[in-house]
Amino acid sequence: MADRDGLIWFDGEMVPWREAKTHVLTHTLHYGLGVFEGVRAYHTDRGPCIFRLQEHTDRLYRSAHILGMKIPFSKEELIAAQKAAVKENKLDNAYLRPMCFYGSEGMGLRADNLKVHTIVAAWEWPSYMSPEALEHGIKIRTSSYTRHHVNITMCKAKANGNYINSMLALKEAQDCGCEEALLLDNEGYVAEGSGENIFLVKNGKLFTPELTSCLEGITRDSILQFAAELGVEVIEKRITRDEVYVADEAFFTGTAAEVLPIRMHDNRIIGKGDRGPITTKLQQMYFDQVTGKRDANPEWLTPVL
Ligand code: PMP
Repeated sequence: MADRDGLIWFDGEMVPWREAKTHVLTHTLHYGLGVFEGVRAYHTDRGPCIFRLQEHTDRLYRSAHILGMKIPFSKEELIAAQKAAVKENKLDNAYLRPMCFYGSEGMGLRADNLKVHTIVAAWEWPSYMSPEALEHGIKIRTSSYTRHHVNITMCKAKANGNYINSMLALKEAQDCGCEEALLLDNEGYVAEGSGENIFLVKNGKLFTPELTSCLEGITRDSILQFAAELGVEVIEKRITRDEVYVADEAFFTGTAAEVLPIRMHDNRIIGKGDRGPITTKLQQMYFDQVTGKRDANPEWLTPVL
């Protein structure tokens, strides 16, 4: 990953990919206090467009605010940086990674002279899973790891350190032959995947966990708006793992995972064991939206060129 051509926006300048480096005493590398985003750009008739750039940038600033981190750039500057990262790397379909981290100016938990550094990298990353997974769904497993408690780490922050929990859960699921983990909250209710929000379909209604320990997903929000457009009722509530077992359909949402059907959970077949009709419809709306094929929500697409 580090050894490739291209440019990374680093503290206000475009830096050659191979030179975008930081010191081994980088504070965030030691303690995990940093914030980041995962954003996608898609090919459209108007050239590459970044999906919900404003919302992702707003969430980055909210995450930093929660952690008490002051980003030394304005939102407008980081929006311009994200557009530049796609444009200058001549990308069409891209994944973007803005991140803010503390530098190596000080060490230890009490360091008080730390600078906030900011990067935006962008690269081609076509699909998180196989086309087969998007079409027929994945196998998931309830994790033995509990999702962060709201008073242990801050669940509304997309914070670097929070992802230890995600990676432990994902690795465990993969070691058990599954593609993704389902994490429960500390009271045993369904929270989310390692990097996705979850939805269920039951009797034509859509269910998703309330925003307590799960991340306030931007894809989740897009799905809520599509459901409203379709007249599908959405119920945000506490969900138990056995409600997933008996759902008619289930799917994950996330910028990387997009809209990903779930066909099996803890070795139980969900619904017909394939992508269901409501999932198919919402997934189609999502792909049409991100690639500029719908007239609705034009403000969600920011042209790069
Ligand atoms: N939950 C977690 C833990 C995530 O990392 C992500 C990905 N950012 C999501 C949910 C989905 O969020 P979004 O749709 O904004 O990508």
